Amino acid sequence: MPPSPSPAPSNACLACGSPDSHTLFHASDRLYATTEKSFLVVECARCRLLRLFPKPTPEELSSYYPTNYWHANPGDQITALEDLYRRFVSWDHVRFLESAIRHAGPGLVLDVGCGGGLILRLLRERGHQVLGSDFSLDAARVAWIQNHVPVFCGTLSQAPLPPASLSVLSMFHVLEHLYEPQDYLNAAHRLLKPGGRLVVQVPNAASWQFLLFGEAWNGIDVPRHLHNFRLADLTVLLDRCGFTPVRVKHFSLRDNPAGFSTSLAPSLDPMARRVRRIPESPSLRLAKNIGHLSLALLGLPFTLLEAACRAGSTIMVEARKTS
Ligand SMILES: [Zn+2]
Repeated sequence: MPPSPSPAPSNACLACGSPDSHTLFHASDRLYATTEKSFLVVECARCRLLRLFPKPTPEELSSYYPTNYWHANPGDQITALEDLYRRFVSWDHVRFLESAIRHAGPGLVLDVGCGGGLILRLLRERGHQVLGSDFSLDAARVAWIQNHVPVFCGTLSQAPLPPASLSVLSMFHVLEHLYEPQDYLNAAHRLLKPGGRLVVQVPNAASWQFLLFGEAWNGIDVPRHLHNFRLADLTVLLDRCGFTPVRVKHFSLRDNPAGFSTSLAPSLDPMARRVRRIPESPSLRLAKNIGHLSLALLGLPFTLLEAACRAGSTIMVEARKTS
């Protein structure tokens, strides 16, 4: 989800306000090659939250998001096999959301940064009332035309919804892209009904994959990830914005094994190939997709083990609106 226009970014730590930091490494845009610049990833000297330093201006940051930055292209000929794969690996997210809906009670579910809306479609097919939001008009068009999911374009504070109108609000891989994640968490708090549930997923900066791959780990995604959270960092932010985590999951079938594969071989990543418009014959495309899937399957035991040790490469949290 591309970022919204924001005021000049602060380079202090968003969690504790400290301007002091230690440099971890330099990195470039390994996945989408939108720029040849090198960026610094630093760790807050006081609370250890990781952040990009210095933060790019909103204009710079916009240029790091290719126009087709999301999980499907309008008019893209998605093969039946790919569609089946996407549905299969998305069930993890759907099941997690359905549990949150059960806990919150029936009502409207809003997915922020919904892309083409596949997860919402799967929820809608199971009888839930859904709405999406995304900055991309193309994403909104695909969500509506292909997946029959209504989507609004804009920031969460611009959502055309009255306060306390949502049962569940989800943000999968959104917070790490934002200058001020608290703004979105505060907006989520206003929009959720009492006892409503927030579902958040972010890459886990305390994962074994980060230890293994370092700056080559795809979860860092320089320069689009402005912050990189550990569970403790996320818990502090959620608590500050009136949420209490009630459930944490360290494994995502869609994200963890595929992230392992992309970290090893970014040139095989299907989304990166689409975004970079790499010319491919159908047979080469199939071969690369099989290569990516094979590496993901190879990494599956490792990704399951790290998740079992609460060090999976993503964290999915269900949090209850508490105040
Ligand atoms: Zn800090």
